[in-house]
Amino acid sequence: MDETIRQHKFVLDESEMPTTWYNLVPDLPSPPPPALHPGTHEPAGPADFAPLFPMDLILQEVSQERYIDIPGAVLDVYRQWRPTPLFRAHRLEEALGTPARIYYKYEGVSPAGSHKPNTAVPQAYYNKIAGVKKLTTETGAGQWGTALAFACALFDLECEVWQVGASYDQKPYRRLMIETFGAEVHRSPSELTNAGREFLKDPKNLPGSLGIAISEAVEVAASHDDVRYALGSVLNHVLMHQTIIGEEALLQMAKAGESAGPDVIVGCTGGGSNFAGLSFPFLREKLAGKMSPIIRAVEPASCPTLTKGVYAYDFGDTAGMTPLMKMHTLGHDFIPDPIHSGGLRYHGMAPLISHVYELGFMEAMSVAQTECFAAGLLFARTEGIVPAPEPTHAIAAAIQEALRAKETGEETVILTALCGHGHFDLTAYESYMKGNMVDEDVTDARLAEALLTIPSVG
Ligand SMILES: *Cc1c(COP(=O)(O)O)cnc(C)c1O
Repeated sequence: MDETIRQHKFVLDESEMPTTWYNLVPDLPSPPPPALHPGTHEPAGPADFAPLFPMDLILQEVSQERYIDIPGAVLDVYRQWRPTPLFRAHRLEEALGTPARIYYKYEGVSPAGSHKPNTAVPQAYYNKIAGVKKLTTETGAGQWGTALAFACALFDLECEVWQVGASYDQKPYRRLMIETFGAEVHRSPSELTNAGREFLKDPKNLPGSLGIAISEAVEVAASHDDVRYALGSVLNHVLMHQTIIGEEALLQMAKAGESAGPDVIVGCTGGGSNFAGLSFPFLREKLAGKMSPIIRAVEPASCPTLTKGVYAYDFGDTAGMTPLMKMHTLGHDFIPDPIHSGGLRYHGMAPLISHVYELGFMEAMSVAQTECFAAGLLFARTEGIVPAPEPTHAIAAAIQEALRAKETGEETVILTALCGHGHFDLTAYESYMKGNMVDEDVTDARLAEALLTIPSVG
């Protein structure tokens, strides 16, 4: 038994928690292309977003300020679980026999068990002070629905959630947790909306998708004055709220004696929010010439938005009701296979992540789900935390990097976000451990078919 004293966790006091969110946009050499009105294809103005979001969030969406103060009421909620710990993965490193140093920022300590409350809380707060009565939303794996239900409970808002059908059927405990926090949950596609009733006519839509659930939640918000919609990823303001992850990690890496910063940052990307949250503050340091990390997004091989999608204007939802966003997309009609990483099954990628990728500041790779679950098991058996299926993609990529370091003998410093725990995903682990899990690579023919649905924008 090695009894050397070594530090595992790098923690910050509540008084050291950052009090601003970071907006990457003004630090980029060019701004991301604007969202467009779905009908006219003209740049969408604040008025186009007003039926869906309160003005404070719309202004954050288009803000050119580098830093935005986090409201005191939001800081007070954040302090319930923030700052979150940064861990050094000593036992994982030993199991791999690597000279690399692996760090992970653990967001699973939040009330929802993921990074999602970092944006759910401010979104609920800004809606509350704007006089909104109810928020609608979609949820895939159930993490976002849980986070928004929790945030709405704190700010005394009603909350209605459309949960992707396949996940609703597979994950009763996530639904029950959302209901425990006081929200109402519907299986999507549902009979409650025009969009849902249309989708139900075609049996291929029965398992649902994030794009379909978004259409339903948006329809209800847009048709009621005192109801607004909340999105758990993709939009600029959501990514910005998540930068508290990276701002804390910067301070914690310094405490760990890694002031030069990581050599590689890897993170899983569904819509891109946890990865933007971790990596954008480090990208700021890189653009200022102070650090030089490689920044690498990791996505599922069966929903390869960055690695196989196209960069084009597309809808955020399947029915085509949202403004058009320029993003990496597989086509808004693309319904990914029901893999276990429900949170990564989205046809598009955040416009800001897509733009950063196009500028060459970010790399991307994809990983098949059995490799991810193998990584998840090794992580659980060394570090003691069962990761959600989504961050197992990041862990698989970190392991690949650590094994490369083993070959070259380099002491590569790797940083990743362990963005959620997998306590509600154990049936997915069971499927892997019983040998029932398969890797379904999406065929080029299927991708080509979905890409045809991307609208042509002059
Ligand atoms: C929602 C979710 C994701 C995917 O969303 P991003 O916006 O890409 O972060 C990944 N991991 C977990 C645990 C999630 O809840």
